[in-house]
Amino acid sequence: MPRGIVGDELVVNGSKIWTSSAHLADWQELLVRTDPAAPKHKGISWVICDMQTPGIELRPILIMTAPGHHHFNQVFYTDVRIPLSNVVGEVNDGWNVAMSTLGFERGTAGMLENIRYGAVVERLVDMARQRLGASALENDDIGQRLAQLRAEVTAVRAMTYRIASRAAIAPPGSEASLARAFFSQLQQRIRRIALDIIGPDSIELPEDDPWIRPYLRTYSNTIAAGTSEIQRNIIGERVLGLPR
Ligand SMILES: Cc1cc2nc3c(=O)[nH]c(=O)nc-3n(C[C@H](O)[C@H](O)[C@H](O)COP(=O)(O)OP(=O)(O)OC[C@H]3O[C@@H](n4cnc5c(N)ncnc54)[C@H](O)[C@@H]3O)c2cc1C
Repeated sequence: MPRGIVGDELVVNGSKIWTSSAHLADWQELLVRTDPAAPKHKGISWVICDMQTPGIELRPILIMTAPGHHHFNQVFYTDVRIPLSNVVGEVNDGWNVAMSTLGFERGTAGMLENIRYGAVVERLVDMARQRLGASALENDDIGQRLAQLRAEVTAVRAMTYRIASRAAIAPPGSEASLARAFFSQLQQRIRRIALDIIGPDSIELPEDDPWIRPYLRTYSNTIAAGTSEIQRNIIGERVLGLPR
């Protein structure tokens, strides 16, 4: 069977794992190898794929942090024909396009969550006051951590505003990794303190308790959109100019 560029089409074969919401999507961004002989980051094209194209098969992947909830899929492609006109940027220059879309995913896409997490911290302050008493908030380790989290949520929001302002001039670049690495770990610290406020009772909470699932889910945040290790490599090499 032909594969790669055939006439004015791309013929795609292979599979893609961890595809969020593929079962709901009409279109998918796809990075496909179009020049197998080229070095690793070259020879890739970035293409928009209609999910109704013949040859696409979805298999749901269920996850233990949300029983019964369908979020992930593995997608299989068998001789999927995509018009070459769907390629964004140049054929074989998809890595540069992906760096640009990843800059948005790691930077400005976090804005809604930034704001939501500000409200989560305020709910935690109320919960701590009710459960532990106002004096605990003034003297306790929990009070100090909540104050720190409140400051950090404000800091990450300022970082995101900065990235959004710059995005009006040029697509976000490597600096988006600063916001992503910091915010994904901050979410873990915020969700963790909820369980510390609830204390030993948190072991007995039902799995659909509003503090439990989000806590478990934050562990995937330091993987999605590039792991924290990858974000740190980007910050080190491309923002700070350190050697590889
Ligand atoms: C909630 C969620 C949603 C996702 N949605 C999508 C989606 O919609 N579409 C999609 O395409 N993908 C999606 N992903 C996949 C995600 O982008 C990848 O899982 C992630 O980029 C990590 O890549 P990997 O799984 O190949 O891990 P690997 O690259 O195999 O990494 C394995 C481990 O090795 C470490 N590592 C790898 N390379 C280096 C290095 N150079 N230096 C130091 N450490 C290194 C990593 O930090 C990690 O700990 C999603 C993942 C999650 C968790």
